[in-house]
Amino acid sequence: MNLHCSITELPNIGEQRAKKLNSLGIITAEDVLTHFPREYDDRSNLCKIKDLVLNEENTFLAKVRGQGENIRIKNIVFTRVKLYDETGSIFAVWYNQMYMKKAFEERTTYLFTGKLQKKYGKLEISSPEYEKAETALNQIVPIYPSVHGLSQKIWRKLIGEVLNQTKGQLKEDLPFWVRKQYFLCERNFAMENIHFPETQERFFQARRRLVFEEFFLLQLGLLLMKQTLQEGKKGIIMKKQNKIVEFQNKLPFTMTNAQKNVLLEIKEDMIKGKVMNRLVQGDVGSGKTAVAMAIAYWTIQNGYQAALMVPTEVLAEQHYQSFCEMFEPLGIKTVLLSGSLTAKQKRIILEEIAEGKAKMILGTHAVIQKNVVFYKLGLVITDEQHRFGVRQRGALSEKGNNPHVLVMTATPIPRTLALILYGDLDISMIDELPPGRKKIDTLAVTPSYRERIYNFIKKYADMGLQSYIICPMIEENEKMEMQAVLSYTEALQQKAAEYRISCVHGKMKAKEKQQVMEEFAKGNIDILVSTTVIEVGINVPNAVIMLIENAERFGLAQLHQLRGRVGRGSEKSYCILINEGKSKVAKQRMNVMTKSSDGFVISEMDLKLRGPGEFFGTKQHGLPELKIGNLYKDMAILKEAQKAAQELLQKDSHLELPEHEQLKQQVTALWQSEQLSI
Ligand code: ADP
Ligand code: MG
Repeated sequence: MNLHCSITELPNIGEQRAKKLNSLGIITAEDVLTHFPREYDDRSNLCKIKDLVLNEENTFLAKVRGQGENIRIKNIVFTRVKLYDETGSIFAVWYNQMYMKKAFEERTTYLFTGKLQKKYGKLEISSPEYEKAETALNQIVPIYPSVHGLSQKIWRKLIGEVLNQTKGQLKEDLPFWVRKQYFLCERNFAMENIHFPETQERFFQARRRLVFEEFFLLQLGLLLMKQTLQEGKKGIIMKKQNKIVEFQNKLPFTMTNAQKNVLLEIKEDMIKGKVMNRLVQGDVGSGKTAVAMAIAYWTIQNGYQAALMVPTEVLAEQHYQSFCEMFEPLGIKTVLLSGSLTAKQKRIILEEIAEGKAKMILGTHAVIQKNVVFYKLGLVITDEQHRFGVRQRGALSEKGNNPHVLVMTATPIPRTLALILYGDLDISMIDELPPGRKKIDTLAVTPSYRERIYNFIKKYADMGLQSYIICPMIEENEKMEMQAVLSYTEALQQKAAEYRISCVHGKMKAKEKQQVMEEFAKGNIDILVSTTVIEVGINVPNAVIMLIENAERFGLAQLHQLRGRVGRGSEKSYCILINEGKSKVAKQRMNVMTKSSDGFVISEMDLKLRGPGEFFGTKQHGLPELKIGNLYKDMAILKEAQKAAQELLQKDSHLELPEHEQLKQQVTALWQSEQLSI
C-alpha cells in the first residue's frame, strides 16, 4: 500500500465511509494517520467487572460466556450477551441489533467500552463498543475523536491497517541535526507510537516529536512568508527623521519611554529600504494612537499618504475625530471613508485620495477595497488587528507600491505565542502606561447585587458621570442579540425613567450607531446599553462605570478591553462584573480580573484557565489548524521549534538544499497558499 493512495483503496472503506472521511479532510492513507487520538486508555489500569462505575463509560476486558440471546418485549428486540472475568459477570445489552447475537466467539477476550446502567432493576452495559483483544495486547489504547458515527473500533482497525501496510514509508522531514539537537525520535516510530504506544515512555517520545514537527512547520511557513513579504520588494525609504520629534513636540503630553522606543524601532524599519511589517502590542490605554499618528505624520511629511484601517465604523469615526484635531491645524487633509457617506460625498473623497489631496485616510475594510485608488500610499496602519488574518495582511501590502504596514493590537499575548499568531510580522511592545493613570476598581458580584449597582449608577449619573452596561453577545445571532439589548434597555428605562438611557447593537446602521455614540460622547446620554460593539478603542473620558452582565461568558482579554473603556478621565472609575457562572473556574477568572490590571498577566491567566480556546486558536488568525500541539500546554516545545526554524533558515533561507526537499513539500502542503512562494 502506498501512503498517497486514496482511502477508497483501503479495506472496508466503501463510498459512504469515504465520503465521511473526505469531509474531515482525510483523502489519502497518509491523512488517516494524522487522525490523532484524543486520549488514551491505559489498560494496565483497566477496571474489573466488580469495579465498574454506574452511569459512566467503563473500559474493561472480559470473556464471553455461552451464546447471546435475543429477547423480544413488545416491538423491541434486545440482545443479551453474558460477559465475565475473574471478579464477576455482567450482561452487555444491545437494542434492535439482532445480529449482535452472533458477533462474539465464546471464551474469547474482548475489550469493551460502554456505560454501566441500571435498567428494569438490573445492571447492564448498554450497547458497548467492543473489539477482540489480540494476544500481543498493547497496554495503551488510543481513543479517537469519534466523528460522523465512525466507531472507535473502525478507527483503530483502519489506522492499524494503514500503519501495518505502510511500515517505514514515511519520509523523514526533520533534518538530522534538528532531531539530534532537540532529542526527537524518527517519524515512522513517532507515528506508530502515537497511535499504539507500547509504553508510556514511547508515547511521550512520539508526541513530543509530532508536536515539535507541527510547530516547526507552522513557524517555518510564517518565517518564509515574512521573507517573501520583505524580499525583492523595495521598501519606500523615509527621510526627514527630525519630523518624528517635531510631531512629538506638538503633542499635549510627553511620550512614555515605551512609546519612544517603539517609534525608534519603526523608524529603523522605514529608513532601510525594506518593507516594514510590524506588530505593535500595547495594553489598553498605552497610547498606541499617538504612535500611529507620529508615524503617519512622518510618512505624510515625506510626501506619501497614510491610511488607518479599523474593524468598526464607530471606531473609525472616533479615530477620524482625533486625527482631524491633530492634523487639520497642521494643514494635513484628513478624510473618513465611512459606510454612511452619500454616493456623491464618497465620489469626492475617492477623487481626493486618487489626486493625493487627501493625505490621511481612515476607515474600515472600505479602505482596502478595489475602488480605492491611492495617489502615493506609503503606510497602512491597522488598529485592533485581531480581526484581520494573515491573508488580509497580505492583501494590505499589495495596495499601492509596497506600503509599510503597521499592525496594532491591544491584546497582549506572550511573545512565544505572538510569534506563531503573528509570525509573519516583527514585534514591538509598548510595555508601559502613561503616568498618572488611576487604578480602575473592579469587583465581581452575583446577580443579587444588580439593584444596588443600578442605584450606584444613578448616583453617578446625578453627578453628571456616565456608565456603560454590556449585555452578553449571543454567538452567531445578531438578531437575538439585538432583542436582548432592546429588552434590557426597555426594562431599565422603566426602572430609571428619569435618566437618559440608550443602546447600541450590531444590527444598527452605521449612521445610527454613530449618532448614539456621538450623543454619548457629548454627555447627552447617562447610561449606554451595548453589546461588545463598543469593545475596541472607544474613548469617552466622562464615562466612569462599566457594568458587564454575564461576565463569565467573556474571555478575560475581552473583559480587560471592555474595562479599558473607563478610567480615561480624571474621575475614579469602576468596573463591575456580574458573574452568573457557578463553576470554580468562573470564580477564578473573575478573581484574576479583580486582582490584576496588567493585560499580559490577564491573557496568560486566561490561557491557563481556559486553554488557547477560540480566541487564541490558530484558525481565528487564519492559520492552519493544529492537529496535535496545544499552544499553551506545549509552550516549551513551541519555543524549541521556533529556535530550530530560525536556525534552519539561517543555514538555508529558501529550503533549496536537496536534504530539505521533503521538508519544503511538507511546509507547502501545510500552508497550501499562493502567498508562500518559497
Ligand atoms: P490605546 O493604546 O488603548 O489605543 P490611546 O492611544 O487611545 O490608547 O490612548 C489613551 C489615552 O492616553 C488618550 O487619551 C491619549 O491622548 C493618552 N495618552 C497617550 N500617550 C500618552 C502619554 N505619553 N502621556 C499621557 N497621555 C497619553
Ligand atoms: Mg486604541
